[in-house]
Amino acid sequence: MRKGSTHCRYAEDVNPAFPAEIMAQPGGEALRDCIQCGTCSGACPVAVHMDLTPRRIIALTRAGLEADVMASSTPWLCASCYECQVRCPREIKVTDVMYLLKRRAIEKGTYPKRFPVPVLAKAFYNMVAAHGRNSEARVVIELALRTNPFSLLKMAPIGLKLIKTGRMALGQERIKDPKQLRAVLDAMEES
Ligand code: SF4
Ligand code: SF4
Repeated sequence: MRKGSTHCRYAEDVNPAFPAEIMAQPGGEALRDCIQCGTCSGACPVAVHMDLTPRRIIALTRAGLEADVMASSTPWLCASCYECQVRCPREIKVTDVMYLLKRRAIEKGTYPKRFPVPVLAKAFYNMVAAHGRNSEARVVIELALRTNPFSLLKMAPIGLKLIKTGRMALGQERIKDPKQLRAVLDAMEES
């Protein structure tokens, strides 16, 4: 990926299969109908914090610029409020596209590496998939180790207080039969 303007692109930046693969999934079908009106970006309450607006994410996805889209913080900052989706004059499921992009990034490991949201999503999913229960303390520790290990020093005093008062446990809770849950998740991934 090259930083900067998206006006000048290089052929090697384009994955021609990318738009078709997104449009083949539920929610992505109408991507081609986008008229680039910007209503989605104007309606988005967190667009000011995004590196690429929702409108640009749609444009880059249609253009096959996968690396740019995958490196963007936008899908991960999306608050799933559906404002963009209900206001889009072409009925494009912008929020659902954000979910498709997040899912693709996790599957391919192409999410922004030290950006906490995808790391948190992956740690949470892996823990629930393995044990059927989330352990807040373990997820927080894994998140910190993978993104900003020094933040553990800052969080330690409050973490210890929460453990002492029984509001957070270090142990790992489990459901009775995690294999059953794994089978359900495997079936979902195959479908
Ligand atoms: S509101 Fe809909 S048509 Fe307009 S730019 Fe956003 S996705 Fe495209
Ligand atoms: S669903 Fe996401 S992209 Fe759409 S308006 Fe809400 S925060 Fe913005």
